[in-house]
Amino acid sequence: MENEQIPPQSVADDVVVSLDYTLRVDGEVVDSSEDGAPIEFLQGYGNIIPGLENALYDMRINEKKQVVISPEDGYGEVDPDAVIEISKEEFPPDITLQPGVTLQVQDNEGNVMLAQITDVGDETVTLDFNHPLAGKELHFNVTVVGLRAANDEEIAHGHVHNSEHSH
Ligand code: ZN
Repeated sequence: MENEQIPPQSVADDVVVSLDYTLRVDGEVVDSSEDGAPIEFLQGYGNIIPGLENALYDMRINEKKQVVISPEDGYGEVDPDAVIEISKEEFPPDITLQPGVTLQVQDNEGNVMLAQITDVGDETVTLDFNHPLAGKELHFNVTVVGLRAANDEEIAHGHVHNSEHSH
């Protein structure tokens, strides 16, 4: 055996972290890993929101933490310029134009973005391109459930390779 590595003992850059988490916003659970597998990511490369990544440093396996993240370290503040009115004629006829509906919108470069319909007028539809959690304070309960050293390829790519993702 060559170069056997000591497994990482705590969260640090270049460590693959497995994390159980529950995210509450305004007292309600909006996301959680409880029903599925923990999320797995490479620490130190911005793979998760910055406020959460920063709070994880030095946590050990099975350690739990409550993390409160301000909008600026989470999904950003609400950008009023990201709310736009579009003529109804721009929408394909098969789309239900109703407040609360989320649409996939493609821009001129082919990037797909999500937008929520916030208002439907006589002539126009208001689309909000802000992240649904923009402007929100995020309350995370996290548990570190696994730590392993990343391999060279993962570090070069800046993300985890697993069965679903390898290139
Ligand atoms: Zn890769």
